[in-house]
Amino acid sequence: MNHDELREWSKRAADWAHEYHANLRDRPVRPRVVPGATAARLPTHAPEEPEPLERIVADFEAIVPAAMTHWQHPRFFAYFPANAAPASMLAEQLANAIAAQAMLWQTSPAASEMEAVMVGWLRDALGLAPHFRGTIHDTATTATLCAVLTMRELATAHQGNEEGLRGQPTLRIYASSQAHSSIDKAVRLAGIGQANLVKVATDAQDALDPEALEAAIRADLDAGHRPAGVVLCTGGTSVGACDPIAASVAVAKSHGLYVHLDAAWAGSAMICPEFRGLWAGVDGADSVVVNPHKWLGVQFDCSVQFLADPVPQVRTLGLRPDYLRTLEHPSEGEDAVIDYNEWTIPLGRRFRALKLWFTLRAYGLEGLRQRIRDHVAWARELAQEVAAIPGVEVVTQPALSLFTFASSAGDEATEALLRKVNDDGRIYLTQTRHHGRFVIRVQVGQFDCTRDDVMSVAEVLRELA
Ligand SMILES: *Cc1c(COP(=O)(O)O)cnc(C)c1O
Repeated sequence: MNHDELREWSKRAADWAHEYHANLRDRPVRPRVVPGATAARLPTHAPEEPEPLERIVADFEAIVPAAMTHWQHPRFFAYFPANAAPASMLAEQLANAIAAQAMLWQTSPAASEMEAVMVGWLRDALGLAPHFRGTIHDTATTATLCAVLTMRELATAHQGNEEGLRGQPTLRIYASSQAHSSIDKAVRLAGIGQANLVKVATDAQDALDPEALEAAIRADLDAGHRPAGVVLCTGGTSVGACDPIAASVAVAKSHGLYVHLDAAWAGSAMICPEFRGLWAGVDGADSVVVNPHKWLGVQFDCSVQFLADPVPQVRTLGLRPDYLRTLEHPSEGEDAVIDYNEWTIPLGRRFRALKLWFTLRAYGLEGLRQRIRDHVAWARELAQEVAAIPGVEVVTQPALSLFTFASSAGDEATEALLRKVNDDGRIYLTQTRHHGRFVIRVQVGQFDCTRDDVMSVAEVLRELA
């Protein structure tokens, strides 16, 4: 295949994509396939000779779509959304055409500079204070790992990187029991250890209790441990828990601790001023992660980490060997430009800022706000409808656009109901546990969903419950 053929096939791919999207509602959201079915349809070895594109594309059409879960389906209410607004898809096509590797300013001047400007646009759109700068990662998991590594290095006077953790006091990180598993992963990977992630008690609303945080830190200090940082959440993945940010930051700062806020999902909603009370005090955090690839419509992957002061993180992660130095502009000095690889873990980076630029411009903040407001209003309306279904109870009320429900007949009945709903295929829901109880999550957030799509959840439940 050459670039002339690419041109033709790209047009056909665009037509295919249009058709696919137009008919999504006719497909089950989750495929009816058994494990191993796709692998069994693929040859076990790569071909020695080139194959014609006709055949490759025909196989794609025959094998792939029917065995995919359709994340862009307007009746996808599982997990959190991974929206891909058309404007962001177009930007990805263009970024793919250039196919740059944006590790250094000089390997991608426009990508690097646009990244800084887009972080600024988003910061202002979310109502964050103007001192925040930041970078775009692949995922929130990476951003949180970067923050936890920075906590480790600040707590060890940068000896962790140099000497390892041997001989250091036991480092302690604090988060609530509602914190996402990416926090657990980060403390493991950072060499701090799962046992040193202190899960702080929460209140009746599943929010971290600042007094319990204070007590946990004091107990660790008395035990000779070294507190290193606090990870808070706004919009926990399970039921949408929101920690009291201002009070928790005050406790952390009174002990000189670094604070990272995980707002991977709910952060997008902060483009609407009326929701900002959920993270009041956010400007006191050192690091904040928001995933525009969830609720803002920017195609996966696009996770923005805001940093009050990038220096500790760059000092933790940055390495500048001779072969990565920028030599072109000695008069302005090496620090006149940002080499974003120094702000994150991988050296190689994609040009992610382009899709943020396209998305924010093509819908405007007002267009994006309207979607989020609709989703929140429809989720509230749906929760009332679900509560009225006999034999079904709403367990947690809508946190923004996420709520949970369960069968009144217990966990087994709830699990059976969830299986029935997902085998049916018209909608897709997933589960979590709330205080030990098996509950079904509903989140409203798909970019193209309508009020009818959302209300169809109640319709399906009335039929199947
Ligand atoms: C989705 C989510 C994550 C993980 O996001 P990735 O970008 O997939 O790593 C972490 N925390 C919260 C609160 C989330 O909603």
